[in-house]
Amino acid sequence: MATILVIEDNELNMKLTLMLLQGAGYETLSARDAEEGLAMARHHLPRLILMDVQLPGMDGLAAMAILKADESTRGIPVIAVTALAMPGDAERILAAGCEGYIAKPLQYRALLALVANHLPLPAPLPASPS
Ligand code: MN
Repeated sequence: MATILVIEDNELNMKLTLMLLQGAGYETLSARDAEEGLAMARHHLPRLILMDVQLPGMDGLAAMAILKADESTRGIPVIAVTALAMPGDAERILAAGCEGYIAKPLQYRALLALVANHLPLPAPLPASPS
């Protein structure tokens, strides 16, 4: 099952992201802060993580460092979701170890293309013969 864990503190962004991913056929898990996200990542071992960079308390980059330092979660690709747009941010975010990043506001096609890059959807089941 292609499960994506979304870690996002903004309720509206969370709803939008879950709707886009579920509409495309992915299973989703959601966490509202880094601590909850880390616990869910360890427990469920999702196939991909969408990580908001700006989270209350521990931020997304710190959480990513913890995931990448842990052998059990290191292999899960992480896409950082960022509202930051200062020169050098892209480098800083990629240096934190994520496999990709995308800026807010989320563009539907760009998000799905990036996700599909890391997590192709399985081919739909053939219709059963009648
Ligand atoms: Mn946020």
